[in-house]
Amino acid sequence: MQRLSQLAEIGREGRAGAHRPGLSAAEQEACELVAAWLGQEGLEVSWDACGNLYGRLPGSDPAAGEIWAGSHLDTVPNGGRFDGALGVLAALEAVAQLRDVPRTATLCVAVFRDEEGWRFGEGCFGSRCRCGTVTDADLQATDADGVSIGEALAALGYREPLGRGTLPAAFVEVHIEQGPVLERLGLAHAVVTSIAGMSGFTATITGSPGHAGSTPMEGRRDALLAAAELALALRERAARIDGAVVTVGRLAIADAAANVIPGEVTISIDARCPTAEGLEALVDGLGEACSQVASASGCAVTLDPVWRSRPVPMSARVGEAIRQAAATAGLELADLASGGGHDAGILAEAGVESGMLFVRSRNGGVSHRPEELTDEADVATAIKLLAGTLATLGCAG
Ligand SMILES: [Zn+2]
Repeated sequence: MQRLSQLAEIGREGRAGAHRPGLSAAEQEACELVAAWLGQEGLEVSWDACGNLYGRLPGSDPAAGEIWAGSHLDTVPNGGRFDGALGVLAALEAVAQLRDVPRTATLCVAVFRDEEGWRFGEGCFGSRCRCGTVTDADLQATDADGVSIGEALAALGYREPLGRGTLPAAFVEVHIEQGPVLERLGLAHAVVTSIAGMSGFTATITGSPGHAGSTPMEGRRDALLAAAELALALRERAARIDGAVVTVGRLAIADAAANVIPGEVTISIDARCPTAEGLEALVDGLGEACSQVASASGCAVTLDPVWRSRPVPMSARVGEAIRQAAATAGLELADLASGGGHDAGILAEAGVESGMLFVRSRNGGVSHRPEELTDEADVATAIKLLAGTLATLGCAG
């Protein structure tokens, strides 16, 4: 908990929350501090070509492969102290506890860079690099100041990483839930069953602009009202599908003025679902909602896909190891799907047996905010569960 507080101070500069953009000097400073702690625990510290950090505890059989546990140290702007950092420090504590426990596999604390992705536009940069899925074009992406990923890496002394690195046999990520479900269930931990698939769209609603005073209400084609109807229709579509969520997080009125009927509105649509069939049904539903609103409002509605990712199931073997650790500790676990993307999803897609353990978020599950809170007791049991999980996976080789 003390180390979490120490990390939260890095890059803060007067803000209430933690502020460590991906591939920034602040993220680097946090990684270097953790590298020092890894060293103090007697782990073998190394870095890869894009700045991912590792701390290894060698096993007795080099052929048994490696078991990794970890997360990320970058944050959203003015974020919380637990998102990412908890997974890194829980891994450090768990691996340190296993120093004297006989095991065949090498255990490794892994810290992946720029997981949040808000600075350059796409998340999980470090884990994608490690898995060899970052392209030359990705490295050209720039932040708000025009600095590219390639330039940010060079400024930190890393060369541009494009090859796939060696991957572990299994990866376990402890992470705060970032939602209210565990708090509502009265449980401290959950096994993550899958990471939700996501589809992002921009919808453009085109009506007729006009004079706010001289155009009668009857016969108006108000693009903002149609956008509002669309947002409500999307909510209704999501409610029909188990686990589905839809969010309109951005809305822009073209040539907005208080005395002009909105003629064109663009909105963002973020749609997620834990299953592939559910996501497909949800995306079909979005298309139907657009047609429905277009015919009712007289506005034209176009839906442009922006990005899409498939749902990623988590490893049954890792899930079983987590359940076994919970049974040994006498703790009850929930099963939850993750609505947010995580490094564990990237490694799973690359073929690594990956699993996640969620830890209860307090304050109604608020996250990506300074108010992010998780109880010390829940952190302690999460470390215990992770250590048990790594011991099982590490001995199974
Ligand atoms: Zn995170």
